[in-house]
Amino acid sequence: MNKRYIPVYSPEIGEEEINSVVSSLKGGWISSKGPFVKEFEDKFASWLGVKHAISCSNGTVALQLALLSLDIKNSDEVIVPDFTFIATANAVKHVGAKPVFVDIEKESLGIDPLKIEEKITNKTKAIIPVHIYGHPANMDEIMEIAEKHDLYIIEDSAEAIGSEYKGKKTGTLGTISTFSFYGNKVITTGEGGMVVSNDAELIERCYILKEHGMSKTKRYWHDVVGYNYRMTSLQAAFGLAQLKKIDKIINKKREIAKMYIKLLSNESQIKFLHEPTWGKSVYWMNSILLPNGNYRDQIMQDLEHVGIETRPFFYPIHRMPPYLSNERFEVSEDISSRGINLPSSHTLSMEEIEYITNNLIEIVNNHYS
Ligand SMILES: *Cc1c(COP(=O)(O)O)cnc(C)c1O
Repeated sequence: MNKRYIPVYSPEIGEEEINSVVSSLKGGWISSKGPFVKEFEDKFASWLGVKHAISCSNGTVALQLALLSLDIKNSDEVIVPDFTFIATANAVKHVGAKPVFVDIEKESLGIDPLKIEEKITNKTKAIIPVHIYGHPANMDEIMEIAEKHDLYIIEDSAEAIGSEYKGKKTGTLGTISTFSFYGNKVITTGEGGMVVSNDAELIERCYILKEHGMSKTKRYWHDVVGYNYRMTSLQAAFGLAQLKKIDKIINKKREIAKMYIKLLSNESQIKFLHEPTWGKSVYWMNSILLPNGNYRDQIMQDLEHVGIETRPFFYPIHRMPPYLSNERFEVSEDISSRGINLPSSHTLSMEEIEYITNNLIEIVNNHYS
């Protein structure tokens, strides 16, 4: 008998994606040259509603390019939430700067604006709000602080393709913003990333840096130490097919979240993470919080036994070896210990969601009764 297995995420690889990649191949476009990359950048920018977009190899180097374009480097400090995927902090380290961690708030699990100012020094150059699991961070308050202290805002929108803050798409609010198209992100190119901004000069700097620092007018002349952070045509071709379905994907993801909310609404031991009052979440992940962390890992194992894959929340960054510190981050520590991400692909069927919630309810109530 074929046992049921529901992964946390699986990308949609349809005929459109396959045909698009084949047409890039048939055109002879296998590296970054050809029309596909530019078309993907332009279409992504216009879908998002920003003036400029530049593609790159992944969401981590997108952050690195954004930081470099703002000339953030040695001895500079950048404010980062303690609860995020590690790449947000690593990118700051990669440019030689120092990530300074701030706790998160409970509504969106984004960086807590009330705790930012105490971490600002004369070395602080930027704040990186992360729209975690798709939930928009509290941008007005964060931007007010940035303005007051003359800091840049780099929005890490890797998990929030299609989320909104007060009617504006996430990734359109900061000085510069970054996206990831990793295999499990809202849309994917396999691996891939994008930097976007309304500031043409910043995006121009990113372009030069990702192209070996080569002068745009003088071939093989290099004014700066650059990188090869290019996206390939094959990835862009894949991305173009995904972009055609992006609004459908986003709607489907919001429907899935609604279904989870409905089916879990009577469960006192399972708190589903709703979108914050100030915006719309794309629900990249459908997340729940248990009453405490005591049985979290056991519950995940029990779900695995019935064919439901889940993921624990990220660890607080200050707890891991590269960033170890004795400082306390109360919310980040608490949330991290009791959060679970449920299957969240937009390809999930309503029947599968019922299977997931029925099993989840039974298993959680076995442990917390
Ligand atoms: C996925 C992700 C990244 C990095 O993206 P890659 O494409 O995997 O390098 C950065 N920040 C956050 C919050 C992410 O979820």
